[in-house]
Amino acid sequence: MIRVGVIKKSKKSSDQFGVRFLVNLILFTSSLVVAAQSTILKNVNIVDVIGGDIITNQSIEIEDGVIVNIQSGLPESLDGDSVIDLSGKYIIPGLIDSHTHIEHSAYWNPARKYNPPRDNLVELLEHALYGGITTIREMASDVRVVSELSRAAKLGVINSPDIQFSSLFAGPDFFEDPRAAAATSGEVPGNVSWFKSITDSTDISSAVIEAKGNGSSGIKLYAFLKPSLVAKISAEARKRNLKVWAHGNTQESNSYELVESGVNSLSHSTLLLGMRPDEMMSYPTVDSTLQILFRKMKENEVVLDPTQFIYENVERLNTMSDAGSQVIAKAHQSGVMITAGTDTISAYREEPFPFIHEEIALYVEKSNLPIIDAIRSATINNAIALGLDDQIGSIDVNKKANLVVLNENPLENIQHTKSIFMVVKEGVVFKRKL
Ligand SMILES: [Zn+2]
Repeated sequence: MIRVGVIKKSKKSSDQFGVRFLVNLILFTSSLVVAAQSTILKNVNIVDVIGGDIITNQSIEIEDGVIVNIQSGLPESLDGDSVIDLSGKYIIPGLIDSHTHIEHSAYWNPARKYNPPRDNLVELLEHALYGGITTIREMASDVRVVSELSRAAKLGVINSPDIQFSSLFAGPDFFEDPRAAAATSGEVPGNVSWFKSITDSTDISSAVIEAKGNGSSGIKLYAFLKPSLVAKISAEARKRNLKVWAHGNTQESNSYELVESGVNSLSHSTLLLGMRPDEMMSYPTVDSTLQILFRKMKENEVVLDPTQFIYENVERLNTMSDAGSQVIAKAHQSGVMITAGTDTISAYREEPFPFIHEEIALYVEKSNLPIIDAIRSATINNAIALGLDDQIGSIDVNKKANLVVLNENPLENIQHTKSIFMVVKEGVVFKRKL
């Protein structure tokens, strides 16, 4: 895999430091090109996830990492513009995996334990980017690690999807978990802003402000939280413009109570079937309960993050995979927005593509979603779940040029999302070479 087009201009270059830096460069280098340069992707078929159609033979003009023009035919080309002919190819928005655990991908390679070396994480992120992922929502990790990687990704220091991350809130009992120890190493689990133990006596306002301060864009609610605490957390998070991403149930709050308490998303399809294994197994008799839940989710605009990939691929969860597929199908029929996440990210040394492709293929193949809706689940729907749909998630003027160019029409076959010719992240081209 090679990288081309390494020029990346930050939109923030007009800040004081940036201007001074640029002036220094102009003074000391003679070959620097400072004129705005655009990249034009011509003759491409755009998969329009908003309209649901393919718009044929378009040109996409990109400047400073942003799409500035889309038109049929070719815009008047300026000197120095780089034009890439994509005749016969298809283009979808950059994929978003809305449920990743980059540090826990040890799951897929038992030889790697928690707290992997940074080099491994960088390699994994690069694999994801070349595999079509331009943004991830990292669900509960060591914020010290992911915020540093997030910065490096944003600056183009590493080849990586953009990283949005969360702080995890849970009841005290959760913090015995080895994953909590790993994500807080050197500190006391439950005592840090990104892995916070919540009880009736917690100052929830401060906890939410601290999560905001560590760079999180959402609060992940995990186990052992009762509805009254969930409602308080959600209300404080809303004030601070943070999202609340909950497990499908928290053992002390069921899915319906979580939705009523103001969360923005529910993760893991089968957790909607009940809080205890015996309740889950009574499916599909809980069908009417599910319909009530889905109506409420739709009404409150709560999205479903099913993580079907793990039900299909983790042996101990496999018995629940059919139930999971049915939950996705019924949620979709009820108008609940589906957001695609894998609960891992990839087995980057073993598999050529990240798992998001398999996640969305399962929606089509096992839950009968139309292909366009499966693609939406990993693009515009995930952008909405992150609160970033004004910047990413579709191919539109003024949005970031985060794009995946495909050799084959994905609307003909969902597996074609893997026919990647190249990936574009904020205007930088990453050409895939298998
Ligand atoms: Zn998870």
